[in-house]
Amino acid sequence: MPDLARVVSEIAEEMRQRPDRGKVATYIPELAHVDPGAFGLVVIDNEGNVAAGGDADMPFSIQSISKVFTLTLALGKAGDRLWARVGREPSGSAFNSIVQLEHERGIPRNPFINAGAIAVTDLILSGHQPREALGEILRFMQFIADDSTITIDEGVAASEKRTGFRNIALANYMKSFGVLDNPVDYTLGVYFHHCAIAMTCRQLAMAGRFLAHHGRNPATGLPIVQPERARRINAIMLTCGHYDGSGEFAYRVGLPGKSGVGGGILAVAPGKASIAVWSPGLDESGNSHLGRIALEALTKRMGWSIFAA
Ligand code: GLN
Repeated sequence: MPDLARVVSEIAEEMRQRPDRGKVATYIPELAHVDPGAFGLVVIDNEGNVAAGGDADMPFSIQSISKVFTLTLALGKAGDRLWARVGREPSGSAFNSIVQLEHERGIPRNPFINAGAIAVTDLILSGHQPREALGEILRFMQFIADDSTITIDEGVAASEKRTGFRNIALANYMKSFGVLDNPVDYTLGVYFHHCAIAMTCRQLAMAGRFLAHHGRNPATGLPIVQPERARRINAIMLTCGHYDGSGEFAYRVGLPGKSGVGGGILAVAPGKASIAVWSPGLDESGNSHLGRIALEALTKRMGWSIFAA
């Protein structure tokens, strides 16, 4: 078995030197200022050993990675009723695409494309004030990461709110089909804010542990979700977590993973490790360019692909 700490620091060093870094997202103006040279990688294994490399403790905007945790919360609230308002098939289209929504009468393909995540957020919001719903999401993140210092970057949230015309269109369109229960601006307010949660790779890898450990927090042994639910969330991460780049990610990395336009990826090696990587430059599908390359190197060297014999 290769030494995990050594593999992680080797990969961090290799990534630091690479000239190809992708393009930092600019459609959310506040994200455009992030240094494209940043790179962080943290792996937490079954025994709780932490291997960290590069900018492991620099906070970044988790963006769509938050959708893994809102999906977890929404399933906890509604169980299988959730699937009446959102599908669980890969979309094959961009994260912010609107075309499928008309064909499918306002029911988004899956909970990770923007439309699907907005529908999930709307479910969490029902019966609450936006502030309460947001508090619940943030507290859940702090609880599973075992870190009460995690916060929301209000500047990023405000920046997206000012420029989020595409998401506003998606939400209004779903509302016209009766898919959203709450006022569109309330739902979007919560959505923009949970996307603006700032975390480090170390905090994110901590938060992902339950998905790698049959739904339990491996440090305490306490269940966060049932094992079957963890399995199913992992399945959706594998098939939908990278939008129209999901096939390529499965092909190259071979792990369930969820990306965000802040350049982070949370990946899960079931039964083995929770992994967070961050490099702000994106590829054409809006997924971290070097993040994916680093994860490919990691799974190869550790033999962690779920498709390995
Ligand atoms: N908040 C971003 C948006 O709605 C999230 C997109 C992403 O990370 N892929 O556009």
